[in-house]
Amino acid sequence: MSNVYSESVPKHNLHLLWNDTRKEAYFYDKLSDGKTKCRLCPRNCMIAQGQSGFCKVRKNIDGTLYTQNYGKATHITVERIEAEAMFHYKPGAKILSLGNFGCNLNCDYCQNWTFSQFQYTPPQTIQEYTTEDVIRKAKADGIEVLSWTYNDPAVWMEFVIDTAREARKHGLKNLFKSAFFLSPEVVSELIKVIDVFAISIKAMDEDYYKKFTKAWLKPVLDNTRQVHESGVHYELSNLVVTGLTNNDDNYDKMIDFILKDLTPKTPIHFTRFHPDYKYMDHEKTPLEDVFAARNRAMKKGLTYAYVGNAFESEGLNTYCPSCKELLVERFGLSTFVKESLKQDGTCNKCGYKTTIVF
Ligand code: SF4
Repeated sequence: MSNVYSESVPKHNLHLLWNDTRKEAYFYDKLSDGKTKCRLCPRNCMIAQGQSGFCKVRKNIDGTLYTQNYGKATHITVERIEAEAMFHYKPGAKILSLGNFGCNLNCDYCQNWTFSQFQYTPPQTIQEYTTEDVIRKAKADGIEVLSWTYNDPAVWMEFVIDTAREARKHGLKNLFKSAFFLSPEVVSELIKVIDVFAISIKAMDEDYYKKFTKAWLKPVLDNTRQVHESGVHYELSNLVVTGLTNNDDNYDKMIDFILKDLTPKTPIHFTRFHPDYKYMDHEKTPLEDVFAARNRAMKKGLTYAYVGNAFESEGLNTYCPSCKELLVERFGLSTFVKESLKQDGTCNKCGYKTTIVF
């Protein structure tokens, strides 16, 4: 299948596959008129019988809301944790990345659109897994962390929560990589089973969110504050899209939010965009742009700022914030933890305690 979007890309009706494998959704209300109200994300879709919500994977059948993608994976891939814009948690750890289909956003430049946009997902890419299958595969492959990623794992919530809870009993950790457009109730449940969050903030502008992602910003920021207050490890990323978010106003608002509402020690990754989906005519983000964002963040007081989707750059490395010793060197997705970094996250040279967790 071509990865280039056009009006002629084949569409599929995945609902035809699903009659005997559906599971009742979590986080919804049954209403007296047979409709259901989904509480998973801030859209709160009111769904009539026979209809689906915005994300297309939660459907009202006879007054009950079903999640129709439970255990259905499009990706189950061994990678390194750095692929998730995660530099301060178990550097170099092997992860099992799990992706699904459907999304509660629809970003015009989505880099995973053939899976996030349900109607373009080829049925032959979907495989069925149980919680036990995932744990068995992870253990067999020497995995430390399950990574819920690719499309937004928000819309796979029931399988994520069930599997993450069980995986912990087997010594596995869980990473949740998301645009974080969720209800506060759901974030509270996730905090109980997730060990690390990779949160993607698209921009710092409500109008931008509505226009380019079809979501809205305030819940994303509220949820990020909630995770911060919980004490669970998290890192932020911002996709720097050429012509849209590669500007000082976006960088400054992001930096100010971190400084005022979170902590300067929150790692932020400014990642490069490549042309995709409906944004084929915008050039790949120049390395200088993400590097400029990273330098601006450091200059304004953030302790750890990085570039992303780059192979080689000083902006990929971690230096001691105090004595500037190189602690972790990265080339692409290869990671080299230096002897200058102790296993408790302390700089061997000057004794500074970083936030890196092994
Ligand atoms: S998760 Fe899907 S069905 Fe539920 S409120 Fe969000 S978009 Fe609507």
